[in-house]
Amino acid sequence: MRAVVFDRPHHFRVMDVDDPRPRPEQVRLRTVATGICGTDRHLLAGGFMARFPLIPGHEIVAEVESLGECVAGLSIGDLVAVDNTVLCGHCAPCRRDQPLYCDHFFSLGVNGPGGFADLLVARAEKCFPLDGLEPMTAVLTEPLACAIHGADVLALRPGSDVLLFGAGPTGLLLAQLLVHGGAARVTVAAPSPHKLDVARHLGADETVRMDRSDPQASLRRLRALAPSGFDAVIEATGAPAVLAMCPEMTRTGGTVLVYGMAGADDTVPFSPYEIFSRELTIKGSFAQTHRFDRALLFLRTGRIRTDGIITDRFPLERFGDALSAVAGSTSVKAVVMG
Ligand SMILES: [Zn+2]
Ligand SMILES: [Zn+2]
Repeated sequence: MRAVVFDRPHHFRVMDVDDPRPRPEQVRLRTVATGICGTDRHLLAGGFMARFPLIPGHEIVAEVESLGECVAGLSIGDLVAVDNTVLCGHCAPCRRDQPLYCDHFFSLGVNGPGGFADLLVARAEKCFPLDGLEPMTAVLTEPLACAIHGADVLALRPGSDVLLFGAGPTGLLLAQLLVHGGAARVTVAAPSPHKLDVARHLGADETVRMDRSDPQASLRRLRALAPSGFDAVIEATGAPAVLAMCPEMTRTGGTVLVYGMAGADDTVPFSPYEIFSRELTIKGSFAQTHRFDRALLFLRTGRIRTDGIITDRFPLERFGDALSAVAGSTSVKAVVMG
């Protein structure tokens, strides 16, 4: 089969590799659509949990092609969204209901073979049938599942005034979750006017363009919206300079959520006195487990909308173009088609 292979930092090839063979509890899947995520760029650079050689791709919709001998409940030809997380179920964190920190955490497309390939194998119970949901909608199940975990971590109080930095696919999904999750007002701040248009279209109450050449002017506009600060400020860009602005934009007693993935060596200067004297809370949200069923229900009912999020589609051979597309200001999400 053909696969994208990250073989060393900053280098990949689209090449022929052996077809994977399903174990008894696994199915073999033919990929239909796999989303490109910012994490893929971190992995290509050798960051996060990268282990080379790696077949990336963790936002996967695929068709069941063959069944391991112990698989029940799936049929050949089923279209499924694949929960990429693999958990052991018996280590200490799994046994204390913290499966996200499983000692043997394994993630398809992150530290094991993923969806930028013709075929992949996955455990049957991690395959969620689409039951008629459009594949190009379902390909957002994994990012939405992560956003649901973020909203769970944030635990917003009803009536909150929320500021969200970032209008990428994740920001656009999170903004909608916050609207439905009790925010009285959601403000999205980002540099791209196009992405801010999409954010407004999907339900953001206010949008503020972050002018990279004059960030202070952008901050003044945000302060004019909420002179005492926002109840919750979410960093969904991964840029340390953006996170550094979050505490000062947060109301006394409020919460900063670190959602975007920064580099492992990045640091951010904070005033400990400000955190202490204004009783700010800083929370982190990393990936997801067990959020696929809720994500799929949101997508099925249309309560979370996806229009305007997928802007680019590429065949597997043009993986490099797909990676570059998402760095542009008009592309939101690129998808590699099987
Ligand atoms: Zn991702
Ligand atoms: Zn475990």
